Amino acid sequence: MNKLISISKGTVTCRFEALGTINEITVFGGFGQTLLEEAAEWVMQINNRMSPFIPVSDIARLNHNAGLKPVTVHLETLQLLRKAKQMSELSNGAFDITVRPLIELWGIGKKQNYIPSKREINKAMRLTGSKDLILDEQAGTAYLKRKGQAADLGGIAKGYAADEVKRILTESGVTGAIINLGGNISTIGFRPDGAPWYIGIQNPLAVTGEYLGRITCKDDTVVTSGSNERFFMKDGIRYHHIIDPRTGEPAQSGLLGVTAVCKSSAEADALTTAAFVLGMERGVKLIEQFKAEAVFLTEDYKVYTTNGLTNRFELVPLLQRKAQ
Ligand code: ADP
Ligand code: MG
Ligand code: MG
Repeated sequence: MNKLISISKGTVTCRFEALGTINEITVFGGFGQTLLEEAAEWVMQINNRMSPFIPVSDIARLNHNAGLKPVTVHLETLQLLRKAKQMSELSNGAFDITVRPLIELWGIGKKQNYIPSKREINKAMRLTGSKDLILDEQAGTAYLKRKGQAADLGGIAKGYAADEVKRILTESGVTGAIINLGGNISTIGFRPDGAPWYIGIQNPLAVTGEYLGRITCKDDTVVTSGSNERFFMKDGIRYHHIIDPRTGEPAQSGLLGVTAVCKSSAEADALTTAAFVLGMERGVKLIEQFKAEAVFLTEDYKVYTTNGLTNRFELVPLLQRKAQ
């Protein structure tokens, strides 16, 4: 694996590619680089088990054997599939672990500017349904009932991996760290100067590096889903990578982005994807059901936060945004 390690004054940072994104882990307090390498290797392991693109991965084998037979998967994969299935049910299918036929149809991450026909969309929609994912903890197997069905952990795996990195670091005695797995951010403890962590929320309509606001954190995770990550514009419509399983099309819910703040990054990851699909009103209800907090950015550029963030979220004034 290609890792870039930098060390300075008791701080070690590791940058590496995995899960289709750039990841960065920074640990304070004089820890050695071996610990970060171990954490990065574990993320790679998660990638290798859960990527639908690696033919021998648990998920690729699950998808390949849909409608044929249950496949043996690692315990971690089974547990994350269980969590993803629960999140699918609790969000009423706004987050849907079986959305992959639609992801493939739209060519997300592959084809460019492709708009499928209604007929194709309806056909792929008929293949979704999280109740068809059968998990058997005793046998250690996972199974999709119908041929053509496919699971996609893209909306939850980065959050899960962030939770795992946090667990590894905490078990090794780390008391100050910041973990960023493709925008799924988790923090441990305080900054080296004793101040709390501030996590910036990016302005989705601006170039990377511009912030809309910041959240004060302690041992929290901050996860954002937005329509700016991968998209193309056609006839004034933003076609992006978060699919509304009820329409089979990129979600048009009046939102540009949702950021969730809570303890579990896997949960926050699935919640933001679901809330983005549901829109603000139903999204807030879902977030509150999980005792999480959130920031919503609407298409007309208004920012709303749940009550618990009133004293923890600060809007960055327009002029300062670039300098932050
Ligand atoms: P990002 O990957 O940019 O962090 P998300 O966490 O919202 O964004 O996940 C989007 C990814 O999740 C997509 O690339 C796709 O693989 C998958 N996905 C898209 N729509 C859904 C959905 N409704 N439910 C579950 N997963 C989805
Ligand atoms: Mg997500
Ligand atoms: Mg995400």
